[in-house]
Amino acid sequence: DCLEVERRNLVKESLSEIGRVDGVLKSFITVLNEEQIEVNEGPFKAIPIAIKDNIVTKNIRTTCASKILENYVPPYDATVVRKLKKAGFAIVGKTNLDEFAMGSSTERSAFFVTRNPWDLSRVPGGSSGGSAAAVASGEVVAALGSDTGGSVRQPAAFCGIVGFKPTYGLVSRYGLVAFASSLDQIGPMTKSVRDAAILMQIIHGKDEFDSTTVDVKMDFLSHIEQGIEGFRFAVPVEVYEYEGLDKEVAERFEECIKLVEKLGGKVEKVKIPTLKYAVATYYVIAPAEASSNLARYDGVKYGLRIEKAGLKETYSVTRTTGFGEEVRRRIMLGTFTLSATYYEAYFNKAQKVRRLLANDLNAVFDRFDAILTPTSPIPAFKIGSITDPLAYYLMDVFTTFANLAGVPALSVPFGFAQGLPVGIQVVGKRFEDPKVLRIGRSIE
Ligand code: GLN
Repeated sequence: DCLEVERRNLVKESLSEIGRVDGVLKSFITVLNEEQIEVNEGPFKAIPIAIKDNIVTKNIRTTCASKILENYVPPYDATVVRKLKKAGFAIVGKTNLDEFAMGSSTERSAFFVTRNPWDLSRVPGGSSGGSAAAVASGEVVAALGSDTGGSVRQPAAFCGIVGFKPTYGLVSRYGLVAFASSLDQIGPMTKSVRDAAILMQIIHGKDEFDSTTVDVKMDFLSHIEQGIEGFRFAVPVEVYEYEGLDKEVAERFEECIKLVEKLGGKVEKVKIPTLKYAVATYYVIAPAEASSNLARYDGVKYGLRIEKAGLKETYSVTRTTGFGEEVRRRIMLGTFTLSATYYEAYFNKAQKVRRLLANDLNAVFDRFDAILTPTSPIPAFKIGSITDPLAYYLMDVFTTFANLAGVPALSVPFGFAQGLPVGIQVVGKRFEDPKVLRIGRSIE
């Protein structure tokens, strides 16, 4: 029948669009052909969706954009993938990322750089840059990314789409290749806040395969159109104190605050003293957890194996060949901060600062419904232009605190800076994800 044909055509159109633009954009590491694409019954039957290539897909290669997993074909689906399929979505391919999601530009993929659809000489952001470019360019209707310190929100901001990092524990991490387990969350990347809410409705919930998931059923859609009249918003003074803030991004941020006030919100500047330590804290904790999580790639259990005479040499040559420079840097950083000599000075100290930051944020959320910041201090930058690791890490100045505190955070497109999209970030209290989306819906 007609409807059936129309539905099928969605997949065809997605594939033809990918065929038309992906040679240049390079959003995808793997694109399925029409026969390989599973079309299931369900309310979202045949709607084309892309999955970041660090989320496992049964019988579809999952590389994490790393040479060490270049030929890895998982025997099972991540919980989020299983849920999307059950709702009818058609997975058309796996998207590019910074290797093991370590990065903010997709330049650190072991395979190739993805380009920003708004300006092909610029990065799409990262680490979920492939997913962001695929949605922004219209290759797919929606995508999933993962966010450990901003990897859903920042590429969404750079590409002019919506990206949402849920409360820690709301979405199952089963089948998400672990980077920093206490920070990682999977989140939707879409053209509208409503679409993000629809995906959240499908993918959230308790999962027996992820013991950190929480048993709550949330309604993301019923109140989403109800506006923000009377809501209280905190704007951290630390945003203005950050000297790397782009002038035009700052202007868009001011305009957004004006809009929020016009819609009946009350905005107040607040001091969140520990906010300025978030990036430093993140770059101790994330590499520490990564160094432990990545120990499994030893040339024995998964992926690449470079056989040498001795076991130790096999490990070391396999890992040195298989991991890229950024991943090796993080493993070394993490091993160092977890070592007996430096544990107290670095890792343990970072854990304490993380607690203080969460306490500070709790105090803010006693008085406010949400915190507003720009998602990124700058718009999309030129490919190859930021090479110093510290300057590169500093770009995460506004996103990492949400992961450290486990709170929900949304990036919504809001105007342009230098002709490139700007994202505004809305951060809420733990488990107030529907409220965060409702606020985003009001300002998009
Ligand atoms: N840019 C941050 C990093 O490099 C965050 C990455 C992420 O969220 N996966 O670690």
